[in-house]
Amino acid sequence: MATARARDIPDRPGAASGGTLDAARAAHAQRRAQLVEQLRTATAPPRLDKEISNLFRERERVPAARIDTSAFRHVLAVDREAGTVEVEGMCPYGDLVDATLPHGVMPAVVPELMGITIGGALAGVGIESSSFRHGLVHETVLEFDMITASGEIVTARPEGEHAELYFGFPNSYGTLGYAIRILAKTIPVKPYVRLEHRKFRDAPAYYEALAEACEDPSADFVEGEIFARDQMVLSVGRFVDQAPYTSDYTFEKIYYKSILEREEDYLTVRDYIRRWDTDWFWCSKNLGMEIPLVRRVIGRERLNSLTYTRIMRWFNRSRLGKVYDLLGYRSESVIQDVGVPIERAPEFLAWFHETIGILPVWNCPFRAIHPHGFPLFSTPPGALFVNFGFWQPVRRREAKPDHWYNRQIEKKVAELGGVKSLYSDSFYPEDEFWRHYDRRVYDGLKRRYDPEGRLRGLYEKCVLRR
Ligand SMILES: Cc1cc2nc3c(=O)[nH]c(=O)nc-3n(C[C@H](O)[C@H](O)[C@H](O)COP(=O)(O)OP(=O)(O)OC[C@H]3O[C@@H](n4cnc5c(N)ncnc54)[C@H](O)[C@@H]3O)c2cc1C
Repeated sequence: MATARARDIPDRPGAASGGTLDAARAAHAQRRAQLVEQLRTATAPPRLDKEISNLFRERERVPAARIDTSAFRHVLAVDREAGTVEVEGMCPYGDLVDATLPHGVMPAVVPELMGITIGGALAGVGIESSSFRHGLVHETVLEFDMITASGEIVTARPEGEHAELYFGFPNSYGTLGYAIRILAKTIPVKPYVRLEHRKFRDAPAYYEALAEACEDPSADFVEGEIFARDQMVLSVGRFVDQAPYTSDYTFEKIYYKSILEREEDYLTVRDYIRRWDTDWFWCSKNLGMEIPLVRRVIGRERLNSLTYTRIMRWFNRSRLGKVYDLLGYRSESVIQDVGVPIERAPEFLAWFHETIGILPVWNCPFRAIHPHGFPLFSTPPGALFVNFGFWQPVRRREAKPDHWYNRQIEKKVAELGGVKSLYSDSFYPEDEFWRHYDRRVYDGLKRRYDPEGRLRGLYEKCVLRR
């Protein structure tokens, strides 16, 4: 498996004279040609064959041609001056960050889990604590090459022949084609991030402070964590050149616990970017990873979301997941990220505590930047939204219809003018689904880029799990 290393990555201006960029491009062209061949000769509908996935939705097993894209994980060039990185679509963010930091830059938005690929975050939806300023991952993408199911390659940009694809690709989840090369925005970094954790007992005051932090030009990163009805933390990060000390949450100490204990902290920029990966936010505790002995046995290198994803998949396939059912509990998996306009966030939170009751909850502010908007994940340009992330089973002794909790969330989010990401389970009836995700635009793109319907449709894939 090729792993991008900083010294192998050409910095574009130097590379132009030295020729390294040409070599990287030539190797990319060769991989493209092989992929085109795979798609042209496929005898069944294609399906992406990826080593790792962050999709929390089991899909029906149907006959398909597995399209191997694992070679598309190279960083082709970092252009510090232009503030861009050119990268292949299946490059995981862990590798991408390692490749850009030595050049003094990072991608403008880096999702928290290091196994998420840049193409996956573009085709799905990627968010991070810099999204209040730079938007969701797709807003940081300047152009991308998409390969269609029939093996044609098109380059989408905000203007020109494929502009509609540029805006319609985010949240299309591989149903229009696959992003194989991406030019994305980077931002300059400093060596450290100084963190401030402010504690709140009252939701309206907390959201007011969150909104204020998003207007503060000195803030580089803004997010929040809800630990209890009266225990909310606003975390604001700023790049700094020097740090009096640095904390390490990549092994024995646990990041989310530090938020409650500390008011101030310093992390290296790399550790800041990876802060949620080591313990999968707080979800690693469900796998016993907070026990010091278990952490030592697993080891620093394997304490990460990739390890937990593998364990969870095995757990779900095995009968162990049925233990709670045997104890008389009914359990419904509620793994969701939903965006709500910030004015409605206190209302959503109060409802959430009452109806769903999962804790902790992650809050990440974001806004759409481009005035055109993105029809499959539409929020009014400029308007501040708060992402609520919660990832736990709800276990109750009382009987509820199947998927009851997830459906309540879908209805509440719609009622408040919010938007739901589609990486996990969705249960919308079809007409309701298309009221939230622009059918007219999607159907037009589908007709143009996948006229034979070789790839599944968005509703079939994301709701019917085909
Ligand atoms: C527990 C959990 C927590 C999450 N937390 C975060 C978070 O903190 N921040 C965040 O930004 N996101 C988060 N996500 C969402 C995640 O960003 C999306 O699910 C994203 O699509 C995953 O990308 P991936 O590379 O892992 O793709 P995969 O999981 O492999 O695939 C996701 C979907 O995208 C399609 N796809 C993948 N690559 C491409 C491509 N190159 N071109 C076209 N289609 C493609 C696949 O066909 C598939 O339908 C979370 C998801 C989960 C399950």
